[in-house]
Amino acid sequence: MADSKAKLEKLCSQLASLELEHSLKGTEGKEPRFWVVAAPRSVSDVASFVKAAQSLACSVSVVGGNHSGYGGLGDLVLEMEHHFTGIAADVTSNLVRAEAGVKLKSLAAKAAESELVVPLGTAPTVGVGLILQGGVGHSTRRLGLALDAIHSLQLVTAWGEVLTLSSDSSDEHKDLFWAVCGCGPNFGVVTSLELKASKLKSCRATRRVFHVPSESPSEAASVVQRYMLRSQSLPRDCCADCCLYLADGSIQVGIYDFNLGCEVPPVDAGSAESVLELVDEGLNPVQLMDIEPYLCEQPPGVAHRGFLSSRRFFTRALFFGRDADISEALVERLLKAPSRHCYFHFQHMGGAVADGSSLSSAFLARDAEWSLVITAAWTEDEEDCSFWVREVVKVLLPLALGCYATDLGPDPEDVELARQTFGAHAERLLLLKQKWDPNNMFRHGFPLSQLGEAA
Ligand SMILES: Cc1cc2nc3c(=O)[nH]c(=O)nc-3n(C[C@H](O)[C@H](O)[C@H](O)COP(=O)(O)OP(=O)(O)OC[C@H]3O[C@@H](n4cnc5c(N)ncnc54)[C@H](O)[C@@H]3O)c2cc1C
Repeated sequence: MADSKAKLEKLCSQLASLELEHSLKGTEGKEPRFWVVAAPRSVSDVASFVKAAQSLACSVSVVGGNHSGYGGLGDLVLEMEHHFTGIAADVTSNLVRAEAGVKLKSLAAKAAESELVVPLGTAPTVGVGLILQGGVGHSTRRLGLALDAIHSLQLVTAWGEVLTLSSDSSDEHKDLFWAVCGCGPNFGVVTSLELKASKLKSCRATRRVFHVPSESPSEAASVVQRYMLRSQSLPRDCCADCCLYLADGSIQVGIYDFNLGCEVPPVDAGSAESVLELVDEGLNPVQLMDIEPYLCEQPPGVAHRGFLSSRRFFTRALFFGRDADISEALVERLLKAPSRHCYFHFQHMGGAVADGSSLSSAFLARDAEWSLVITAAWTEDEEDCSFWVREVVKVLLPLALGCYATDLGPDPEDVELARQTFGAHAERLLLLKQKWDPNNMFRHGFPLSQLGEAA
């Protein structure tokens, strides 16, 4: 520990000599830790910070929207939200340019001002980490993943070199672009992105919640199965999410249509009783974020907006194809959940996700119809319930197409999941990692280099 503090003190004196603002932080206690925090003001600042860290073998991590918890783990932590907040939409080229500290809601709002939409995620405060690793939201079926929309990006490499990358770059930079689109946090600091935008369409959101007594698990499984069958038959202009959770002593299945103006078959929930039905017309992506069902509709105490500040949570997401037979397993596991705050969220994919190619990004699960987000949440007074997510993932993984990269970090239990994330792409990613970040400076998010060690 004394060594690491001494190394960081050296880093601080080097940063001071470069007149780069920073501060040394530390925590005492059983596992004391020290790190240096900085809020770069420009791309050349980012390059200088990275070069200084490289010269002293310090690791670097980046905080974007801060939703993963991994951005703060480096020896040097670069916080982008303070000075990298620019967003501009260009209606001539249909491109939206965003700096690395922006949040999804501001990005969606800026695009909407110009009647444009970019495929993003559904939560307003998430940041660029989502775009670099996937990005599933209500526009995914129509427009693809958020990373499919990346036209070009600016990257500061582990050597402090500033590169502009796109699919039109020359060979080695084209390869690097491929890797950053899917596994970005492992390859450098992205300072800005140009995102392809499409014409905005207004959305009709229909939110229904069905109630099934806990004594009838097979009926609940049948509602989920019917949801899965219906959702995969929908046109690309309609996306249907589903949440499965416990409330009021019963199983609740929320089915949420986000329809951009097409004819769709009615929701079929068998004989399950409908306890809520809400319809909102004419919504844009910003308004959709404000009514995100998993935050608004579920009863307080599940994943409700009012509960967010006082809960801890743990999430992993698996991708499933159309024929996944998982409804009974989900209900069975939900009924055994250690806390009433545990839930499943099907984020609807399919459609344009399959149009993306393995040649254009490292993202692998192109046949995914859903990203199933498995979340345990608990209050500070309750027992840590993350073990439930780990158990469910173990049961479901053999039936899945793969695991979503965004949630995975340095926890040794994530390495097995990481192996199921990039599949056949892992070898190419490891070669590129060796080339562009041989000292593994960017190592605190997705555990890419550990795949090499385990191989
Ligand atoms: C409440 C909530 C809602 C979510 N909703 C969705 C959703 O609808 N769809 C979806 O697909 N996912 C969703 N996610 C998952 C989300 O995509 C990941 O948590 C993502 O990693 C968050 O990115 P961030 O920038 O907010 O977080 P951060 O923790 O800041 O960043 C995540 C990772 O990316 C790295 N990173 C961030 N910025 C940069 C940069 N500029 N350059 C290089 N590396 C960088 C960080 O170092 C870290 O490793 C959600 C997560 C939460 C907690």
